[in-house]
Amino acid sequence: PYTGPSSDAILNKRKEFMISSSISCLYKKPLNIVDGKMQYLFDESGRRYLDAFAGIAVVNCGHCHPDVVKPVIDQIKRLQHPTVLYLNHAIADLSEALASKLPGDLKVVFFTNSGTEANELALMMAKLYTGYQDIVSIRKGYHGNGVGTMGATGQSTWKFNVVQTGTHHALNPDPYRGVFGSDGDKYAKELQDLIQYGTAGNIAGFLFETIQGVGGIVELAPGYLSAAYDVVKKAGGLFIADEVQSGFARTGDFWAFEAHNVVPDIVTMAKGIGNGFPMGAVVTTQEIARVLTGRCYFNTFGGNAVATTAGLAVLNVIEKDNLRENASMVGTYLKGKLNQLKEKHEIIGDVRGRGLMLGVELVSDRKLKTPATAETLHIMDHMKDLGVLVGKGGHFGNVFRITPPLCFTKDDADYLVEAMDYSMSKI
Ligand code: PMP
Repeated sequence: PYTGPSSDAILNKRKEFMISSSISCLYKKPLNIVDGKMQYLFDESGRRYLDAFAGIAVVNCGHCHPDVVKPVIDQIKRLQHPTVLYLNHAIADLSEALASKLPGDLKVVFFTNSGTEANELALMMAKLYTGYQDIVSIRKGYHGNGVGTMGATGQSTWKFNVVQTGTHHALNPDPYRGVFGSDGDKYAKELQDLIQYGTAGNIAGFLFETIQGVGGIVELAPGYLSAAYDVVKKAGGLFIADEVQSGFARTGDFWAFEAHNVVPDIVTMAKGIGNGFPMGAVVTTQEIARVLTGRCYFNTFGGNAVATTAGLAVLNVIEKDNLRENASMVGTYLKGKLNQLKEKHEIIGDVRGRGLMLGVELVSDRKLKTPATAETLHIMDHMKDLGVLVGKGGHFGNVFRITPPLCFTKDDADYLVEAMDYSMSKI
């Protein structure tokens, strides 16, 4: 049993000693989570919750998966931080294993500690490689909170009034709210115009999430990415896939971009890479990576032996537990059930996503698509009381983000939908 401090004591300490932004606890009465096991979390009283958020699409293998925990404990007992200035097998093994998961010439890896760092490095490499400075990203995207990545992020809520120059935000090819609906080609034409009229005609790179996470699980309109690829290449830019949230089997493909017939020049990743261990990575081609050759570029903890051991264990578990297949199968099942729920509850405006990266957008008027922000919070809180945890996102905070550990079962999906159904019928 848990014998640590109470929720109130923790909350008071947080208030007194931690710098907080407007992003703090998810629930009105914050949860004190003390244990985790696979798709379940436990609070201090031992109450079990079905976790359909996975620490924001991080814990893909499941909380404390024994096959991740054991090698990590073995490694931490032996050696934690040799620094990449010496040889150690863990970082080399994970680089090789990651490269084997990527198509084409995407064969070399640089490790960071977060998604922000990975994207900052990708943007910098694109500028160095092409010699151009302009970056294009997509509205509603989220790419991090460094200088370049906050610039690339396309939501005012996540941007501060600090200098962010040289980034242009393309129309969001959002089938539900976008001006051209599902017409991917029209959005790609707009991208071309943006480059033609907003830059000197060339760009360093185009940074995108194949399925936007923070933006509210937005799937880019069909055909957009492959058309955008041609536009970006014509402008001399690199095609940079941000797989921080969608990678590591979450969407039923290993990488979300695979569903779109494109091979990026750079892929960035974090979150699911370590099942909770802080780590990120940039994977690119030998040719592009050469921009770092002969330059001093270093990251103290990037590729730390414990983190990379976790990374290797994650790849093994994804394979051994068939998590990609399970994400696809359970995700398709769950999406079907959520679509059935949409028939029943007017408040559901849209159900979308792939695999176990699903979104449910709530609106108070289906025609006007008025965001049902307060109701979203209310239902989310009610679901928590029923023992189900989901996330929330979208610019208006009116989209449920369902990104559970990939060991989620059909029974879990049924339970989640029942809880959502019941909570919706109560408002
Ligand atoms: N890219 C995407 C798509 C993300 O969702 C996030 C985090 N929400 C980031 C980048 C930034 O990652 P981190 O918080 O690890 O810096």
